[in-house]
Amino acid sequence: MSIASSLITDFNKGMNYLKDNFGQAVKVVYPSISSTCSNCSSEFANKSSHRVLSGSPVPFSNSSCVMCGGTNRIMTESFDYIHMFVHVNEDLVYKVIRKLKIGKVPKNSIITVCDIKYTSQVRKCDYIITHENNNPVKYFRFMDPMPHGLGTSHYILCVWNQEG
Ligand SMILES: [Zn+2]
Repeated sequence: MSIASSLITDFNKGMNYLKDNFGQAVKVVYPSISSTCSNCSSEFANKSSHRVLSGSPVPFSNSSCVMCGGTNRIMTESFDYIHMFVHVNEDLVYKVIRKLKIGKVPKNSIITVCDIKYTSQVRKCDYIITHENNNPVKYFRFMDPMPHGLGTSHYILCVWNQEG
């Protein structure tokens, strides 16, 4: 038996309503990318040689490079903001988790729901930060995001917790 299309339409309307009205911009932070410092020389086994490169943007002398601290590597963080509906209510979260049968989930877990088009971002991020403006909390992904929806999946659901 297939699901009536009117029910699917209503479900998606409801999900959109929740997402748009109670959702938030969640900061999705990707693994930092390491690159060579452009401000110092990398002689001596890749350690900064404490010498200013000619034309260094930020000159220094008699100290470690002020841009990389003497490591000759610069870590660049990248992130996106993705609109998500964030379930923090423990009763609801654990009810859903039991239904998903994904095993034992640590305390302080949350569930997010967002548009399925963000699947790759959710998969590759290191962690997310919710409620960035009033009470920021860092969460690590507990599972591979799973498609979520009636009939056609328009959303992905993911479980996160505060332990890395
Ligand atoms: Zn440097």
